[in-house]
Amino acid sequence: MSRLVMKFGGTSVAGLDRMRVAASRVAREVSAGKSVAVVVSAMAGETDRLLGLAREAGADVADPRDETDAILATGEQVSAAMMALLLRAEGVKARSWQGWQAPVRASASHGKARIDGLTDDLIGPAIDFGEVAVLTGFQGVTENNRIATLGRGGSDVSAVGLAAALGGAQCDIYTDVDGVYSADPRIVRRARRLDRISYEEMLEFASLGAKVLQTRSVELAMARNVPLRVVSSMTPLEADNPGTLVCAEDENMEQRIVSGVAYTRDEAKVSLLGLPPSPQATARIFDRLADADVNVDMIVQSPARSGQAANMVFTVGMAELDRALEAISAHKDEIGYSELASEANVSKVSVIGLGMRSHSGVAQTMFSALNERGIAAQAISTSEIKISVLIDAEYTELAVRALHAAFGLDAE
Ligand code: ASP
Ligand code: MG
Repeated sequence: MSRLVMKFGGTSVAGLDRMRVAASRVAREVSAGKSVAVVVSAMAGETDRLLGLAREAGADVADPRDETDAILATGEQVSAAMMALLLRAEGVKARSWQGWQAPVRASASHGKARIDGLTDDLIGPAIDFGEVAVLTGFQGVTENNRIATLGRGGSDVSAVGLAAALGGAQCDIYTDVDGVYSADPRIVRRARRLDRISYEEMLEFASLGAKVLQTRSVELAMARNVPLRVVSSMTPLEADNPGTLVCAEDENMEQRIVSGVAYTRDEAKVSLLGLPPSPQATARIFDRLADADVNVDMIVQSPARSGQAANMVFTVGMAELDRALEAISAHKDEIGYSELASEANVSKVSVIGLGMRSHSGVAQTMFSALNERGIAAQAISTSEIKISVLIDAEYTELAVRALHAAFGLDAE
């Protein structure tokens, strides 16, 4: 019998009405003969409410410990039991499972635990016997029998982990969008839903701010080869709902040169002027940044001709900007620059596609489209399947639309 994991996020279990729709979707898969496990998030807004309670009770929510996690984990516990009750009301055999009951073994890093072990020993036979298992997402149990949560959005990780444990199961992620789009549909009206996308491309999309799937869940799916389908829980039950399949690449995928355009405004630019033209200065900058645990993304260094000062520009996540500036200014003499400046009003726009590996001319298309609109690239970075440019934040929408059109992605 084929096994299926269906994951419902916060908006898909936001209240009784939404939960009933979710239960009907589950019932339908059960009648189609599938062995079904369900993974649920807390009801929308619930985790934030619980965080507030923990804070009021004196917990340092920036550095969560076991009691904070014990509070947070209740959100999923409520959803799982309610879902099991609603399934029973539909005449479907069902039972809720909390993290420790499955058990989902988790590392002891509270608030950001990893799944260390999950087998199908208990849940496998239950679902094959025809009883839907409704597992609480986002939580596991540590070696010391304490509850640990997996980080915000962690129910996606629970779902993929369970699908991997169940062996060959597909994982359907029900959410408030009907798939992965070639660009943010709020910016590009002619963005289109992608039928299929590779794990690699999805990782680039996810890390670039297309917040459909939690990044770690995609990494886990790729490592364990779990096919992930992003589907809408908002479309009517009887409507066509193909979603987007995120899976290992196949030959057809490389034919599409660019799959989509993503952007993020969470980056800041740091400029260092008047650097001594020596490799030592460069090395020292990155030593200091590494010591401060700052993650650098794009890097541009002007050519340092002998005897002349050099300049450098790099980007860091907005949240790390202050730390980066402190780390550098505290070592001004050692590094030997003359001026340090930063700017937050930038955004990073990227084109992503597997086909870049085997097609030339992608950069040319990209930069001529930007050039036609007078948009200057302040920094550039590339990977095998991505080209990113840093631009003035003011031109974000314009750039995303221009690139979407230039790569022939606009839907007819
Ligand atoms: N309820 C948790 C959160 O809000 C986990 C999840 O929904 O995936 O982050
Ligand atoms: Mg989510």
